[in-house]
Amino acid sequence: MSISDNLSVILNQLKNSSAKLIAVTKTRSIEELQETYQAGIVDFGENRVQEMIEKYEQLPKDIRWHQIGHLQTNKVKYIAPFVFLIHSVDSFKLLKEINTQAAKNNRIIDCLLQMYIAQEETKFGLDQEEVLSMVQMDAFKELKNIRIVGLMGMASFTENEEQIRKEFNSLHLFFEQLKSDQIGLATGLVEWKELSMGMSSDYLLAAELGSTLVRVGSAIYGARH
Ligand SMILES: *Cc1c(COP(=O)(O)O)cnc(C)c1O
Repeated sequence: MSISDNLSVILNQLKNSSAKLIAVTKTRSIEELQETYQAGIVDFGENRVQEMIEKYEQLPKDIRWHQIGHLQTNKVKYIAPFVFLIHSVDSFKLLKEINTQAAKNNRIIDCLLQMYIAQEETKFGLDQEEVLSMVQMDAFKELKNIRIVGLMGMASFTENEEQIRKEFNSLHLFFEQLKSDQIGLATGLVEWKELSMGMSSDYLLAAELGSTLVRVGSAIYGARH
């Protein structure tokens, strides 16, 4: 199946859900990205800063670049001029640096707080207490060049669907709670509207459980080498 065939299958599956597709283009060639763009997709996800910049420079400027992987503080400045949404904010230090670089570029950069929901030890992310305290601390209110627009999470790497369902459910529940308790809204810097969860192996489940952004790579392009 071609890239555009795969895309139409996935878009059709997501048609009746609230989830929007982000094509995860890490390791894929410029030609593959061009084919994706020609199929009408404008949301591209990358996890390495250097790779995102190289692709940004070569491709149409209406593409919306999503930083989905762990982001080092010293790399923020390279993507700050153009990045559309940073999914992987996992510390206040990183958020402060995004704010600084956004201000230098005269922009407001949208961010998601990455939450730790998996069983694995290796994944980055915040817990519920850390999310609650971050958006309610005094220093947060000073960050006028960022906007928190939601949460991101990655489920455990497992075949056990019940486990994944449990993790997505808990993230969704917390997201709904932030919304109904209006956490951080008084700052004017927070809007709980995006829930980034679901990848190639679990995007259908994620869409069913309240995801608004699914990040899909190998189901579009085949296995990464
Ligand atoms: C690579 C990656 C994806 C996409 O993975 P696939 O299994 O290829 O769909 C999604 N989210 C993050 C954070 C990634 O690094």
